[in-house]
Amino acid sequence: MNLLLKNTLATTLIPPAIEECDLRIDDGKIIDRARHLRPKRDEEVVDLQGRIVMPGFVCSHTHLYSALSRGMPPPKSAPRNFVEILQKVWWKLDGALDEEAIYYSALVGAIEAVKFGTTTLIDHHASPNFVTGSLDLIKHAMSQVGMRGILCYETTDRGGKLRRDLGLKENERFVMENASNAHFRGTIGAHAQFTLDDDSLLWLGELAAMYDCGVHIHVAEDEADVVNAQKKHKQDIVERLEKFGILRKKSLIVHGVHLSKKQLATIARSGAWMIHNPRSNMNNAVGHAPLQWYGEHAALGTDGFPADMFEESKFGYFRNAESESPVGFSRIPEMLNNGQRLASEFFGRTFGMLQKGSPADLVILGYYPPTPLTSRNLLGHFLFGMNSSMVEHVMVNGNRIVWDKHLVGIDEHELMQKAACAAKKLWSRMHGR
Ligand SMILES: [Zn+2]
Repeated sequence: MNLLLKNTLATTLIPPAIEECDLRIDDGKIIDRARHLRPKRDEEVVDLQGRIVMPGFVCSHTHLYSALSRGMPPPKSAPRNFVEILQKVWWKLDGALDEEAIYYSALVGAIEAVKFGTTTLIDHHASPNFVTGSLDLIKHAMSQVGMRGILCYETTDRGGKLRRDLGLKENERFVMENASNAHFRGTIGAHAQFTLDDDSLLWLGELAAMYDCGVHIHVAEDEADVVNAQKKHKQDIVERLEKFGILRKKSLIVHGVHLSKKQLATIARSGAWMIHNPRSNMNNAVGHAPLQWYGEHAALGTDGFPADMFEESKFGYFRNAESESPVGFSRIPEMLNNGQRLASEFFGRTFGMLQKGSPADLVILGYYPPTPLTSRNLLGHFLFGMNSSMVEHVMVNGNRIVWDKHLVGIDEHELMQKAACAAKKLWSRMHGR
């Protein structure tokens, strides 16, 4: 059935634009956009009374598997550096993930994401003791919520070659099976070059070339990754990735905190995307990402924090403002907007617009500005006024996912209670009890 959204403020961040108009939705997309559209017979009409309608946000890098880590007991001894954070926290957590924990992690993360107005998640998954079929569990949970996803498994050599092969196969299977799916696509996942031997990087690059789907990998999050390439492989980190075909269109190069201008230029030339995760960089105290050298292909992720892109944008803005070489005011909103360009590359259709034919992935915001709001000052309102608690309704592919701040067709309270039970068991396994 058609849906007519009356009296909207159709808003896009980049280029900043606001227009009073009505939007007609059918068959998963916007089929008409104009002022004073007349309702058709049998058409449902919702009067939005001047609420903002924006394209759904894309979180360009996250780890749904960490959703049940909130409030978990700390490690016996405090990590002293980034590698110890991985060893004592995240590799303990991912090693304890079983079928139930993977499913509830994904469900919790997806539910929170859509309530924040994020309609597409690009996920980077690890569960070394449950590899095969893990991406299907995540897909199933995200499908129940109704969102879109680009998924992969973090291939690594840290568990030996047999487990590495399971990771490679899981990526390949998921990419093949979802090559024409409207809601899901796959990419080739890799943890980071410092946990991957040459033969593994070669496999990853070959799979990405074979399926034209890019590699999703952490790069230079901490200086230890850069030093590892130099000491262990006698090679510049970016040259090592380039040599094995990791740098290519659709590849997601995550973090890049410790990359030089020259290295970032090499990545930009390849057509790959840089993904900036400001909250995570701050939390791990790994340094300031050199955004001034990032190219056109740069997007925003949350790296395991809840996929609240309003919040990530604010952190990104403030993090940048206090850096030695701050970039312009519009750069962080541009990076947020680029997530939709990135998703468009994978799905082969244009996200991030509110035009006739655009996918009806929409966020409807109850924002009542206390000062004049125009396209010229929209980004100021976005960074300093709007937040995710103002998200009232969310649609994906024309379906109502969140309405009046509640998930449609899902008992959120009951699911969260089940997730908390799964989290308790997960934490016990992590600590060997
Ligand atoms: Zn990450």
